[in-house]
Amino acid sequence: CEMEISRDKEVKRVIAQHPCYSKEAQHKFGRIHLAVAPKCNIQCNYCDRKFDCVNESRPGVTSEVLSPEDALEKTRQVLSEYPFIKVVGVAGPGDPLANDETFETLELIKNEFPDVTLCLSTNGLVLPERMSDILRTGVTTLTVTMNAIDPEIEAQLISHVSYKGKVYKGIEAAEILIKNQLEGIRLAVEADLVVKVNTVLVPGINDEHIIEVAKKINDLGVYIMNVMPLICQAKFADREAPSPAECKAVQDACAPYVQQMRHCRQCRSDAYGLIGKDLSQMSEERRNVIKL
Ligand code: SF4
Ligand code: SF4
Repeated sequence: CEMEISRDKEVKRVIAQHPCYSKEAQHKFGRIHLAVAPKCNIQCNYCDRKFDCVNESRPGVTSEVLSPEDALEKTRQVLSEYPFIKVVGVAGPGDPLANDETFETLELIKNEFPDVTLCLSTNGLVLPERMSDILRTGVTTLTVTMNAIDPEIEAQLISHVSYKGKVYKGIEAAEILIKNQLEGIRLAVEADLVVKVNTVLVPGINDEHIIEVAKKINDLGVYIMNVMPLICQAKFADREAPSPAECKAVQDACAPYVQQMRHCRQCRSDAYGLIGKDLSQMSEERRNVIKL
């Protein structure tokens, strides 16, 4: 029917202009991350919470948290100067869905810039219950970090989840997280969101299991998968990071099941510009053009 055709066209346009969903788009179109979400509801063993969420951004970096109003003002300034930025997203510094400010910000952006693509990343713990907020604010691209579908494996990657006022540990925590991630991804695909799954490759824990994640998310209709190397810090400070060859081998093994993103640059949660050429990391002088 006509509605489906126009929806298909819209999805194609969104993908073609999203630097993380399309390899070709990365050199032409940019994104801005608004660091409005400081709180997190889980504890990953590779995350030092003094810094940005490692699941979607560069570790060891502390982005300055903005209020929704300041984030809108920053967006105004950045978009007026860099019209090639077509995607506005919230990726931290904590879990975007654990912060109401994420949705306040997205509302403000949508009202003033109805044509930009709104993007979110999350660990997925509260994805099912936040789905109505996500749809109401007009988000179209969503990233869920999912490192395992087997609770025994996931339990080695997180130390706790904090869910509905209670703290869970071990296998119980892993079961809740995985169940909600899978249910959330299912609902997101059903609602026509374009879904990316980030998976952190942790040698010795999930390296041989990631292919099972790839098969599962293919069944669920996920558009693209981003296998990211572990950066050793926090509880995992003494582990060994995977080599680029190990990462590539896992990506190659998963590729028959789900398209692989191979150009992720593990950006900051306040990054803007083209990926790999972040304006937020440019010289002071240049950055002063943008006041926030
Ligand atoms: Fe850290 Fe992100 Fe994991 Fe939260 S979801 S513990 S911020 S890596
Ligand atoms: Fe895209 Fe990777 Fe940067 Fe996220 S961290 S905006 S997926 S390049």
